[in-house]
Amino acid sequence: KLSPRLQAVSDLVPNGSIMADIGSDHAYVPAYLLKRDLIKYAIAGEVAPGPLKNATSEMEEQHLTDKMTTRLGDGLDVINPDDHVNAIVIAGMGGELITQILERGKHKLTDQTALILQPNVDEIRLRRWLVSNQYGIKAENIVFDAGHFYEMMLAKPVVKRVEYSKQELRFGPVLLKQKNPEFIDKWTDRIRKNKVVLNNLNNATNPPLDKIRHIQKINAELKEILN
Ligand code: SAM
Repeated sequence: KLSPRLQAVSDLVPNGSIMADIGSDHAYVPAYLLKRDLIKYAIAGEVAPGPLKNATSEMEEQHLTDKMTTRLGDGLDVINPDDHVNAIVIAGMGGELITQILERGKHKLTDQTALILQPNVDEIRLRRWLVSNQYGIKAENIVFDAGHFYEMMLAKPVVKRVEYSKQELRFGPVLLKQKNPEFIDKWTDRIRKNKVVLNNLNNATNPPLDKIRHIQKINAELKEILN
C-alpha cells in the first residue's frame, strides 16, 4: 500500500504511459502502477547510488524486470529518445530542484510528454516554469500525509500559452477552483499559524510594523480565498 502522498501522485499518471520516475528512490510509484497494469513500462532514474539500489531491489522483489529498468544519472539524462517516454514523474523534492531538473533536461521533453510533479515546497516557482514552457495544468491533488500538506499536479504541453492569475499560480488553478476539504484545511491552518506569528510580533518590545502589516495582508487574502 502506498502512502497517501504517493497514491495521489500515482493517481495522476495517465493510463498506459511509458513512464520515467526521476529521483525514484524506492521505486514505489512505478512498482505500484506496473503491478496493476496501469502503465506499460517504467524507467526509475536516480542520481545517487544508494537510492538506485533501493529502486533495483524493489523492481526485483516485485518481479518487474521485464517491464522496468533502473538507471543512474542526473535528472532527465537517464531518458533517451528511443525510450518513447510520455510521462515523467518527479516527486518528493523542492519545487526549485524540480524546476532545475526540468530546465536542464528541457530538450528531452516532447509535445507528448505529460509531467506529474509533486513539489514539497515552492509550488509557485514550478507553476511559473510550466507556464513559461507552454504547459497547462490539467489536474491537481492535495493530500495531508505525515503532518504535511502536499500538492501534486499533472501538466501537459499546450499549443497556446496559458495565462494564470497570481492567485492561480500560488494556490493552483485546479485546487483554487475545487476548494476541496484538504485545500480549506491547508490554508485555514496557515491563517492560524500566521496569527500566532502576529501575536508574537505584536508583543515584541519594538513591534516590526512592516512585517506585521505584510502578514496581516496575507491573512486577509487567505480569508478571502476561503470565503
Ligand atoms: N520520488 C520519491 C518520493 O517521492 O517518495 C523519492 C523522493 S526522495 C526524498 C528524493 C530523491 O531524489 C532522492 O533519492 C535523491 O537521490 C533524488 N534526486 C535528487 N536530485 C536528483 C537529480 N538531479 N536527478 C535524479 N534524482 C535526484
